[in-house]
Amino acid sequence: MDKVFDLAIIGGGINGCGIARDAAGRGNSVFLCEMNDLASGTSSWSTKLVHGGLRYLEYYEFRLVREALIEREILWQIAPHIIRPLRFVLPHHSGLRPAWLLRLGLFLYDHIGGRHLLPPTRSVDLVHDEVGKPLIANRYSKGFEYSDCFVDDARLVVLTARDAADRGAEIHTRTRAVEIRQVDGIWQVTVENTISGTRTTINARALVNAGGPWVEQVLSSGSGVNARAKVRLVQGSHIVVRKLYAHDRAYMFQNADGRIIFVIPYQDDFTLIGTTDRDYDGDPAKVKASEDEIKYLCASASEYLKNPVTPEDVVWTYSGVRPLYDDGASEAKAATRDYVFELDTPGGAPLLSIYGGKITT
Ligand SMILES: Cc1cc2nc3c(=O)[nH]c(=O)nc-3n(C[C@H](O)[C@H](O)[C@H](O)COP(=O)(O)OP(=O)(O)OC[C@H]3O[C@@H](n4cnc5c(N)ncnc54)[C@H](O)[C@@H]3O)c2cc1C
Repeated sequence: MDKVFDLAIIGGGINGCGIARDAAGRGNSVFLCEMNDLASGTSSWSTKLVHGGLRYLEYYEFRLVREALIEREILWQIAPHIIRPLRFVLPHHSGLRPAWLLRLGLFLYDHIGGRHLLPPTRSVDLVHDEVGKPLIANRYSKGFEYSDCFVDDARLVVLTARDAADRGAEIHTRTRAVEIRQVDGIWQVTVENTISGTRTTINARALVNAGGPWVEQVLSSGSGVNARAKVRLVQGSHIVVRKLYAHDRAYMFQNADGRIIFVIPYQDDFTLIGTTDRDYDGDPAKVKASEDEIKYLCASASEYLKNPVTPEDVVWTYSGVRPLYDDGASEAKAATRDYVFELDTPGGAPLLSIYGGKITT
């Protein structure tokens, strides 16, 4: 028989590449195929935060937040050239979450995840501090400033794949897995070069389905596994406008609908605003910010900023699909962001399918 890899991985997003790096680092032989370019899926359309996810505390996701906070400083140490600390200003909005609740949430955020290097939360007087200047005068007087990190998400994926390759993993881009089947306890994955159309079959003792929004499609290519978990595709869009203010802090704004948005200094001359949360049932490759989402993001930012943001100010937009585990939550914003791993062993050899997760974790 031809070579049998220890592990074959379908999908070159953060999950597939992270697993390839980890497995190769442990001495396993690894084959990874990505149908487009590395990070061409959700992993390049994120808010680009290496963060614990302050708002998940409201959903009592303490373990998820703790794990992500621990990972935040580890990642920053590994890749300080593409990850930088960022301070976020969270203004208190009368009628929304009370100041004591924000303080409590930030106290937990500072303490549950082993923050060693990033500076802690501080209270800010938005009337006198420069971070209050871009905000509507007389409306916001009190706020908090806390730490998280910002990352070039696509580069993180590519560097992770590069490191996996340096440790011996075979990474194949423009290579789609078209059929998976099991023969005598070995996975056979037929892959097609999407440029030449050439097909080859590789063998592996174990298979990882890190197809992100395509996780269920991968399962349906002959795996013999009927997915027990369901993926919930939740669209998130961002708008980019010309730089809105001079200082280097980001904002977290609370909306009346209970959601939050981020306003982040971006690529020197721009400001990034996002995101949205809405169920999506189209082709993940064709996801695009809708007019409603653009209006929503402009209105949310304008609730706080002295100079309102309008759809005419939008220079570009991008949109991605979160491949979340469908936990039956009624609203897209409440669906868990946690990882769910489904392990199947049809015919003996394992197949691990990944739902949910974060760039950070
Ligand atoms: C709007 C938004 C904002 C977010 N913000 C953050 C954030 O700030 N911080 C954070 O930590 N996380 C964030 N996330 C979450 C994070 O981006 C995702 O959880 C993560 O990128 C998912 O990675 P993945 O590898 O599972 O999926 P993907 O990146 O989509 O990778 C899956 C890959 O599989 C490939 N593929 C599929 N089928 C096949 C096949 N048959 N053969 C070969 N290849 C195949 C696809 O081309 C794709 O590249 C955000 C997500 C969204 C949508």
